[in-house]
Amino acid sequence: MLNLVLFGPPGAGKGTQSAFLVEAYALVHLSTGDIFRANIKGQTDLGQLAQSYMNQGKLVPDDVTINMLEAEVNKHPDAKGFIFDGFPRTTAQAAALDAFLEGRGAPISGMLSLEVPEDELKARLTKRAETSGRPDDADPAVVQKRIDVYHAETAPVAAHYAAQGKLHAINGVGSLEDITERLRSAIDSI
Ligand code: ADP
Repeated sequence: MLNLVLFGPPGAGKGTQSAFLVEAYALVHLSTGDIFRANIKGQTDLGQLAQSYMNQGKLVPDDVTINMLEAEVNKHPDAKGFIFDGFPRTTAQAAALDAFLEGRGAPISGMLSLEVPEDELKARLTKRAETSGRPDDADPAVVQKRIDVYHAETAPVAAHYAAQGKLHAINGVGSLEDITERLRSAIDSI
C-alpha cells in the first residue's frame, strides 16, 4: 500500500497536485477540508460544527476530525493507498493516524511537504478567493489566522515524520507540471 501525506501551508497547492497524483498512482484522495465543505453544503451536524471553526481560520477539534477521517478510510476497504490532504494537521492527529494505520498493517509511506514562501501563499489565496467562493479565502484576517495556526500547530507535524525518516521537502514554486514532476520523483524514491 502507498499511503502519502501531502503537506504544506494553506495555498501551497495540495489540492491541485492531489488531482494529478490520484490519477498517476490510483490512490484514494481524502481531503479533510473538502469533506468538511461537503458537510457544510449538506447542512449536516458535522458541517455546522466545522463551519464555526473554519470561518474563523481555526482548526476543527482533533477528536471530531480524527473520527471523521477514520470513518472515511474505512469506506474504502479495497484502496491501493491513500493521499491524505490537509490531515494530519496537529501532532495529536499524526499520532492517531499512525496508530490507526499501524493497526491496519499499512503505515504512512512518506510525507511530501510543499514549501512556498508566505507572500506567495497570500497572493495565491487572494487570487483563489475570486473563484473559490470560500469565505476563509476572502477575508485577509482569516487567511493570516490560518497561516499563523499552520506555524503554531501544523508545522510540528513535519518534524514528527522527519523523525521517522519519511519527510520529503518539495519546492512548491514553479509551474504545475514542474511541481508534479518533483512530487513524482520523490514518490518513486520511496
Ligand atoms: P487550506 O489548506 O487552504 O487551508 P483546507 O481545505 O485544507 O484548506 O482546510 C480548510 C479549513 O478546514 C481549515 O482552515 C480548518 O478549519 C479545517 N480543517 C481542514 N483539515 C483539518 C484538520 N486536519 N484538522 C482540523 N481542521 C481542519
